[in-house]
Amino acid sequence: MKRVVMIVGGVLLLLVIAAGAIVATTFMGRRPVQDGAEISGARIVADGIVSAAVIPLGDGHVALVDAGNDSEAKALLADLSRRGMGPDAVSAILLTHGHADHIGGVARFPNAQVMALEAEVPLAEGRVGARGPATRLFPVSPTGIRVSRPLHDGESIQLGNVTAQVFALEGHTGGSAAYLINGLLFVGDSADTSSDGHLIPSAWIFSDSQAQNRASLARLDARLRAARLPVQAIVPAHSGAMTDGLTQLDAFASSAAAR
Ligand SMILES: [Zn+2]
Repeated sequence: MKRVVMIVGGVLLLLVIAAGAIVATTFMGRRPVQDGAEISGARIVADGIVSAAVIPLGDGHVALVDAGNDSEAKALLADLSRRGMGPDAVSAILLTHGHADHIGGVARFPNAQVMALEAEVPLAEGRVGARGPATRLFPVSPTGIRVSRPLHDGESIQLGNVTAQVFALEGHTGGSAAYLINGLLFVGDSADTSSDGHLIPSAWIFSDSQAQNRASLARLDARLRAARLPVQAIVPAHSGAMTDGLTQLDAFASSAAAR
């Protein structure tokens, strides 16, 4: 009996070590999130393993891009309080996708219109699960979130004085989105910044389809270039921003990795 317990314990320990190693290698080699960085009027707020962005709308309100991992939204509330604002000042939350570490704080902002790409609504609301090698293991349960404004690829939405352009960027999840706001391209988990400043695609272990993610990134690059939309920086959720415009997305799109 003792022997069985030892064997089972040993196997469990190995599994935990293996899982830790996979997660560590997934996040190693990334440029770290710069907590409090201000880019083009937006502030990046780190929340543990992830970041969200606070964007002033010029009308006494702010919008958030994602709502962090923390169900109490402490870091985001601290940022609002620094501005002399409370949770009611958040009038919109644009979700890049529905993974738990991006929607954690949504319930803390009761006045916010919650927005996500229409294809992402079932995941954000917890009616379906994600399909990545690791994310498919997570239990599916209602998140308590109701997406009050489903968004569509190519649409522009007006939030106070700010325009947000919506792009489908499927692959990391089926309804992942990118938002172009004030020249900042928020890409959620659809891309990361390597420690030497290059754009790398979404982490395969947490992504529904990395092949689709790569193709989506290349397509987004072509669309942004064709529309001549000004991009000042690309902002991933788990790593620091790429502040050289579209350079890194262009480079990725023309590399073999995008094919
Ligand atoms: Zn994700």
